[in-house]
Amino acid sequence: MIVGLTGGIGSGKTTVAGFFKELGVPVYNSDKEARKLMKNSKKVKKAIIELLGEDAYKGKKLNKTHISDRIFTNEKLLQKLNSIVHPAVRNHFLKWKNRQDAPYVIQETALVFENNSQDFYDKIILVVAPKAYRIQRVARRDGISEQQIKNRLRNQLEDREKIPLAHYVIDNTELLETQKKVKKVHTTLLGFSQ
Ligand code: ATP
Repeated sequence: MIVGLTGGIGSGKTTVAGFFKELGVPVYNSDKEARKLMKNSKKVKKAIIELLGEDAYKGKKLNKTHISDRIFTNEKLLQKLNSIVHPAVRNHFLKWKNRQDAPYVIQETALVFENNSQDFYDKIILVVAPKAYRIQRVARRDGISEQQIKNRLRNQLEDREKIPLAHYVIDNTELLETQKKVKKVHTTLLGFSQ
């Protein structure tokens, strides 16, 4: 089974993914793998330079600030970048999945419903938390401004729109409660795969 793990910026996807990993579930972090592909795949890199110019890279490294500032304020560019990166991540994920030996695997991805990719998953877990907490957590974690976080939020659906579309909702306001809910969802998912 392929389980999607999604949620808005700073909701706690990676934190929740960590709890699933502790239970032995293989987790694929799409953002992280996308960045690796953007840095290392010749094909992806070439297409990005064609779209965003040489400034998209600083030497061999991705120029993340430049890329974020351009794409999060220009929806067309964001879509074009996605059409380069998403198919590459999808292929890479499928190869990774075939190497795993587990009842189910998790793909952690920020945008599932926004990209209309919900049909790819057997089940979808949505992580939610109050928006004010999310902004505070990301500001503290990344040292970026509230405005930069709000630019990113603009490309994401509201929790209330996503909740009815998810199979499981994990409220990540309080970590201990989050961990308990992860265990419950894990038990349910194992039940499906037996
Ligand atoms: P992004 O959308 O940026 O990828 P994310 O959804 O993966 O973020 P995390 O990185 O898991 O979110 O969490 C954001 C920050 O908030 C991290 O610094 C994390 O340690 C912290 N955090 C996560 N959950 C909680 C919680 N329940 N209470 C307090 N802090 C938390």
